[in-house]
Amino acid sequence: MNVLLVYAHPEPRSFNGAMRNTAVETLEQAGHRVTVSDLYGSGFRADGGPWDFTDLQDPSFFRYQREQVWASEKGGFAPEVAREVERLRAAELIILQFPLWWFSLPAILKGWVERVFVMGFAYRIGHVYEEGPLRGKQGMLALTTGSPNATYGQGGRNPGMDRLLFPIHYGILHYVGMDVLPPFVSYGVNRAGDEERAAELERYREHLGGLASARPLRFEAPSRSLRE
Ligand SMILES: Cc1cc2nc3c(=O)[nH]c(=O)nc-3n(C[C@H](O)[C@H](O)[C@H](O)COP(=O)(O)OP(=O)(O)OC[C@H]3O[C@@H](n4cnc5c(N)ncnc54)[C@H](O)[C@@H]3O)c2cc1C
Repeated sequence: MNVLLVYAHPEPRSFNGAMRNTAVETLEQAGHRVTVSDLYGSGFRADGGPWDFTDLQDPSFFRYQREQVWASEKGGFAPEVAREVERLRAAELIILQFPLWWFSLPAILKGWVERVFVMGFAYRIGHVYEEGPLRGKQGMLALTTGSPNATYGQGGRNPGMDRLLFPIHYGILHYVGMDVLPPFVSYGVNRAGDEERAAELERYREHLGGLASARPLRFEAPSRSLRE
């Protein structure tokens, strides 16, 4: 299987860096081909705009989605966007590796989604969710948190992780048609000791080893008010 691992952490020796290395090693040992998009390491630009394109359909008024559709049809993405779109096209499993920042993706990874999940390729009008163009691919989140597990969900001060990740799982990965595999969350990694962190990496290896038989997440049909 072709795996695209999109890695968003500014420090290679971080725990997220260790998780990236663990994933590459584990997946390659299992016979998969892994491509890493190291967003900080490659200097990937976080913000999308006219610079995403080599030329514009309408230089007098920038409409982002219209330009994405035009570039999808005719070519004309700037090299770093074209490279990432090709990696996404070739991937069967996409893993997003990141630290939870402000209950969400770090800006550089949100920017990767905005610039690379382009209209015309990743979604089109009337072609989203189960009819999304990226159906057949799988997506998975691998993330770390600063706050411990007990602070998330019932009895904790933070919402449950399912609820926090819903906009990413449903509004990004599933929106373009992917099957969403259960996430791997390593909680409170800053406060953990070395042994606990080593055990977390082992737990991550096991999680990756079980992906072949993992059931995609099932999402409740949104209420009318969400669809409207
Ligand atoms: C802007 C911002 C917003 C944030 N928002 C949130 C939030 O909303 N919710 C929340 O819970 N947290 C939040 N945090 C905290 C953040 O999620 C954590 O700091 C982060 O997830 C920790 O992961 P890391 O890779 O950065 O850890 P690091 O600090 O890089 O690593 C933790 C420790 O692991 C060690 N380590 C590295 N490699 C290994 C290895 N192979 N084996 C064992 N140990 C190793 C490192 O040396 C380090 O001591 C936020 C942080 C920032 C900067």
